[in-house]
Amino acid sequence: MSKQNRAYKFRLYPTKEQEELINKTIGSARFIYNQMLADKIKHYSETGSKLNNTPAQYKSQYEWLKEVDSLALANAQMNLQTAYNNFFRDKKIGFPKFKAKRKSKLSYTTNNQNGTIDIVDSKYIKLPKLKEVRCKIHRQIPDTHIIKSATISKTGSGKYFISILTEYEKEDVIANLDKNKALGLDYSSPSFYVDSQGIEADYPRFYRNAQTALAKEQRKLSHMQYKSKNYLKQKIKVAKLHEHLANQRLDWIHKLTNELSNQWDYICVEDINMKSMAQSLKLGKSTNDNGFGMFRTILQYKMNDLGKQLVKIDKWFPSSKTCRYCGYVNSELTLSDRTWICECGEIIDRDINAAINIRNVGLAA
Ligand SMILES: [Zn+2]
Repeated sequence: MSKQNRAYKFRLYPTKEQEELINKTIGSARFIYNQMLADKIKHYSETGSKLNNTPAQYKSQYEWLKEVDSLALANAQMNLQTAYNNFFRDKKIGFPKFKAKRKSKLSYTTNNQNGTIDIVDSKYIKLPKLKEVRCKIHRQIPDTHIIKSATISKTGSGKYFISILTEYEKEDVIANLDKNKALGLDYSSPSFYVDSQGIEADYPRFYRNAQTALAKEQRKLSHMQYKSKNYLKQKIKVAKLHEHLANQRLDWIHKLTNELSNQWDYICVEDINMKSMAQSLKLGKSTNDNGFGMFRTILQYKMNDLGKQLVKIDKWFPSSKTCRYCGYVNSELTLSDRTWICECGEIIDRDINAAINIRNVGLAA
């Protein structure tokens, strides 16, 4: 037996008052994060030492903080503390950034304490301070799952969602794994990935069409007068397209991961931090947005459930630059080189070569 986590996401339909309180809580979590960060920075510049402040210290000065779920504030504090500790471990990282109103994610997280978060009558979710909020529960959470926490979020088009994190004991599946059923995946920006058989996982056409439509509407938005009536209307249109695209992508990822986890016993991928990769490759938004990180997370739990293995290999392994036949490392290889000829005489196709190397290294590990 081992402990596992699972997330369940549902649409929320709050009343006007609940909506106001949710917005207020989201704002308060951001406020306390920024306020505590400002004081930490000030304290550090004056003394050079760590300041361990808590949300409770701010409640007499900012009375309205008492009206919102205190666990939302505690979670904001915890997130800040993690980022702050990183700074003390390595000063080069710099202080955590302030959360700007327009750029930061509109959400807050709260925890379940003896049933403060619960599903009622299969159509409401009980939440601290909010009481029962209407919810579309399209997937049952099994009785064996314990609710740990919930994140309430608001999208750009004004919809509300809840993501419930559960914990459960899982019987360890002992599967007879076959090393011949091993697949390597090499992340690749335009086509998602190339596998060790040379097959590309390409986004379906409808997804690409939606992407083009979104880009067009976004261009329109950028030419409108900021905050004008038309601008605000267009902004919601863009947000809706965004959400539609994200849903389509998630459906596609679910289908893809079902197929992969059924067909393969081992799947090997690189352990890449998507953010640092986007920055280092200067590919900009598309890398962060195309969902490869989410794909890996979903694939991981599906493989786990079947007793199979997702193997993550060291991100520093030069999978593209290493010849899979002789092991020679071509350090001259650049991103634009799609094929190269190795010293051993083999012609190397960059992507397949990388995927096969990832598979071999993963299997050896
Ligand atoms: Zn070679």
